[in-house]
Order: sequence, then C-alpha cells, then structure tokens
Amino acid sequence: MSDFSREQIIKLLQDEENESDLLKKADAVRKQFVGDEVHLRGLIEFSNICRNNCQYCGLQRDNKRLARYHMSEEELLKTAKQAADMGFKTLVLQSGEDLYYTRDRMCRIIESIKKNDVALTLSIGEREYDDYKAFRNSGADRYLMRIETTDKDLYHRLNPGMNWQHRHECLMMIKELGYELGSGIMVGLPNQTIESIADDLLYLKKIGVDMAGIGPFIPHPQTQLKNAVGNNLHLSLRTMAVMRLLLPDINIPATTAMESLHPKGRIMALKGGANVVMPNVTEGEYRRLYELYPGKVCVDDTPLHCRSCIGAKIIAIGRKIGQSYGGHNGRLPL
Ligand code: SAM
Repeated sequence: MSDFSREQIIKLLQDEENESDLLKKADAVRKQFVGDEVHLRGLIEFSNICRNNCQYCGLQRDNKRLARYHMSEEELLKTAKQAADMGFKTLVLQSGEDLYYTRDRMCRIIESIKKNDVALTLSIGEREYDDYKAFRNSGADRYLMRIETTDKDLYHRLNPGMNWQHRHECLMMIKELGYELGSGIMVGLPNQTIESIADDLLYLKKIGVDMAGIGPFIPHPQTQLKNAVGNNLHLSLRTMAVMRLLLPDINIPATTAMESLHPKGRIMALKGGANVVMPNVTEGEYRRLYELYPGKVCVDDTPLHCRSCIGAKIIAIGRKIGQSYGGHNGRLPL
C-alpha cells in the first residue's frame, strides 16, 4: 500500500471527486498504525525576528510593518513551565531565524526546559552542524524544518538568498544527530504543480521523516505574494492523506493553517489521517505578532482556552488525548 508510484500519487492528488474516500482510507490507516490517540504539542512562538526573506512569509525581514519581538530567556522558560504544568508532554520552540539566540543561549534554554519532563522540539531554521549537535547534547529531542517544496527553481524564486541543497543538508545533519526529524511542505504555492507535490511526498518518504507537516499556503498582504491564489484546503487535505498512505506510522499534524481556512479544518485533517495537534501556548500580544499568514486562528485566546477547546473537539470525534511523549513508533525519550 505504501509503494505508490509517482503516477498513482498524482492521480490521487488530482481526484477531487473521490476526496472523501481518500480521507477515509487515510483515517483507517492512521487508526491501524498509530491508533486513536491525538498527541498535543504546545507551540511556543518565541521570536518573530528573521534574517530571511521568504516571499510567502509574514515574518520576512522586508516586512517593516510588523512589530518585532523576542522573548527573554526568563519569559520563555516561564511559558514553557506553564505549558508543562498544563499537561503538554511535548513543547515546540519555534521562531524566525533570530541569531540573538546563540548556540550557548539556546543550550541553556533547552537544558532548563528539559527539567520539566517534556519532549522538546526545535523549529528555528537553518543553523550550523555544531549548533544542531550542541542542541541535541543539551537535550533537544526533535527538530522540525519544512523543505517547503522540492521544486528547486520554485524554492530559489521564493527564498532569495537561500539554497535548497543547504536546507536539505541541514535535514540530513539533524537526522544523523539522532533527532526525530520533522519536515513538510506548503501546498498551493504559485507555480507549484501537482507533479512537484508528488515529488515532495516521495522526497519526505525517501529521507525517512518521523513527522510530516503539510499546510496550505495562505497569501500574506505584506508580502510579494499578496495577490497569489493559495488557500487550497482541499488539495492540502488530499496531500496529507496520501502522506499517511505512504508513511503509515509517522506523526502527522492537523495544521493550524488548515483551521485558518475552515473552522473545522483541523478536525477534517484528524479525520483524514492526522494524529497530532499543536495548540499555541504563546501568551498575550505575541500570538498576534507571530503572523506568518493572515487570519491565523486563536490569536485572541489564552493557552488554557486553546488546550481545553481542542481537547473537547478531539474527544467529540471519539479520539483520545495522548498521554505519552508521542514519539514515532513510541520512541522517546531518545
Ligand atoms: N524559521 C523556521 C523555519 O524556517 O523552519 C521556523 C518558522 S517558519 C515561519 C514556519 C513555517 O511557516 C514555514 O516552514 C512555512 O512552511 C510556514 N509559512 C510561512 N509563511 C506561510 C504562509 N504564508 N502560509 C502558510 N504557511 C506559511
């Protein structure tokens, strides 16, 4: 079942008519391989400062209209402690590429957070091998960095000054260092073809991701792509479902971007192959300022509200909240 050819994948991605069958099939595979537990990962968006200029992203350095912040170490540790006290067994530290967080500073932060009995995921972009190694030695368990697209021409147009091969090599370093590897793509980018999405899925399978995040591209008004079409929830759901068929036992999040396009986006995803949700546990004004795309859900809510709201929705569809670290194949602590 997991050995689909490129042509078969393309057909599944194109087949709007039979989308609900595809999602049902992915849901059955999810149930068989990873069960009914939905793992919650508390997402801390600790800095919106970024040295890069990704043309799709609201945090790009050329967006001068965005008020910038980074949390102090103290604030970050306090947020992490609160999230751990709320019961999250995994925390995800995500930011723009903000070099205020030097190797030493990150290591200190990781060591302190790990005292809370949580698995820790980093999502802070491209760094040097020695940084990844030091973070891993300090206790980081997982690393999440989307390849975004495997169409290299498209990647280089969308990410000026960045290099696809380098991003790929970073993912390989992360894997070699023994992190659980998370990657993924955006769906609906301008000039992205169905064929290239099929290649993306085959790439994620080939590099052996432990987690794959697939989300719709949502045009941001303060970026070069403000007039692009994007917003393709259904193609994103089909892509996610095919990912589940290709890699039956990995972790797949129901992404926030899906919920931002439809009030039931994450539930649709959980019923179509996903088994992870990443509620935002960032406090106050920072939630609004971490604006990757417009219409991001839950920016006015508190972490506690988000936790209980998504918890209730998960129970309502007959699923359970995961009580473990929720590693791929039950691994972790690594
Ligand atoms: N800087 C880190 C990195 O590059 O991996 C992590 C933060 S980055 C802002 C997180 C993800 O947001 C990106 O990998 C990208 O897929 C997603 N993203 C950015 N802009 C988006 C948009 N307009 N619509 C949907 N997703 C977007």
